[in-house]
Amino acid sequence: MDTEHPAPAAEHPAPAAEHPAPAVEHVETRVVHTPVVHPAGSRPLSVPIYQGHLFAFDSADDMAAAFDGPQGAFFYSRLGNPTVRAFEDAVAELEGGAGALAAASGMGAINAVLMSLLRSGDHVIAQSCVYGGTFALLKDLTERWGIEVTYVTGEDPAEVRAALRPETRMLYLETIANPTTQVADLPALIAEVRDAADVRTVVDNTFATPLLCRPIEHGADIVVHSATKFLGGHSDIVGGVAVFADSAVHRRVWDHATELGATADPFAAWLAIRGLATVALRVTRQNETALELSRRLSGHRAVTRVNYPGLPEHPQHDVAQRLLGGRGGGVLSFELAGGREAGRTFIEAVRLASLTPSLGDVKTLVMHPASTSHRQLDAEALAAAGIGEGTVRMAVGIEHADDLWSDIEQALAKLG
Ligand SMILES: *Cc1c(COP(=O)(O)O)cnc(C)c1O
Repeated sequence: MDTEHPAPAAEHPAPAAEHPAPAVEHVETRVVHTPVVHPAGSRPLSVPIYQGHLFAFDSADDMAAAFDGPQGAFFYSRLGNPTVRAFEDAVAELEGGAGALAAASGMGAINAVLMSLLRSGDHVIAQSCVYGGTFALLKDLTERWGIEVTYVTGEDPAEVRAALRPETRMLYLETIANPTTQVADLPALIAEVRDAADVRTVVDNTFATPLLCRPIEHGADIVVHSATKFLGGHSDIVGGVAVFADSAVHRRVWDHATELGATADPFAAWLAIRGLATVALRVTRQNETALELSRRLSGHRAVTRVNYPGLPEHPQHDVAQRLLGGRGGGVLSFELAGGREAGRTFIEAVRLASLTPSLGDVKTLVMHPASTSHRQLDAEALAAAGIGEGTVRMAVGIEHADDLWSDIEQALAKLG
């Protein structure tokens, strides 16, 4: 066992020989300088939680070097922490990136990326189906920072070509959109900006996870995730991460992120690492169950339409076959014949599934946007957002498919 203690032990032989540490004689000092144990002869099997946020140096040069970017030595946890780094490195490896930056939330990661790479006068092309928080941020950037945004459906690469301007600096896409489950044809869309100078593509890969799709392999420059969802997987953390194909871009976003301060907490990072250990098992199970439930829902008389990329009738089924390795994700949505009233009755009638937002949990979660998150919108405004009055979103958990189906059937039976 290796211990660090100021005195009388000589843990640092060289400096100590020249500058012997003064003897510590008082309990008041000893209790402050509790020895720090560095295991020697064995190593921890799981990543330790480095809750302490300061790291000390033996030389001024070593400390000065630590200020030099996201891969430098640790010194203050807003700028880097070993537990957080372990999570970043794990996600960077999963996504095939050069490096990653963890954040306090998915929005923290998205904000750090947008605010560090865009300036007034820049133009962004974004999918109209982007996550609500991202949409609000883009609106803010337009109104207060003079960044212009052109929205495209993302269904046709020609829209991106038509929207491209000399000032375009970013193409912002989501692999699988909410709640429509629209799948973006990433290679085709990204190809439209490949020859344009200085246009970076950002892909929100939260719904797909790197198990289904690795956007960097399809030309994306940056991948963002809400780790709150599938990566964490247990609805016990809020977290985010951005992965970079290029380390210079990583550095630029890190510079801003350390100013923004939406830093990941070591304990949240530790829970996210624990979540990662089972993400492949969870995602496989969720995908299988979501496909099975989609098939059963398609045959139910109370349901007029099921949106799930794994179904042959899904508009981007072919894209999903190619891009998502034939899988469809853990989220499906369906339209109830009874409209708004039926949607509300259904979400209040389920017993196993929980009425709550979010997705990617081990438990199955349901939402009816028209009576909850989007209740202010009339049918027309809902349709513009790709949502029907009777649209129910289901984020499938890892329960047994038959138990979930029993719950869905009894809730559908209440619709009359
Ligand atoms: C939840 C979510 C976000 C935001 O993540 P937070 O962790 O809640 O900040 C971003 N994008 C998508 C697709 C999401 O589902």
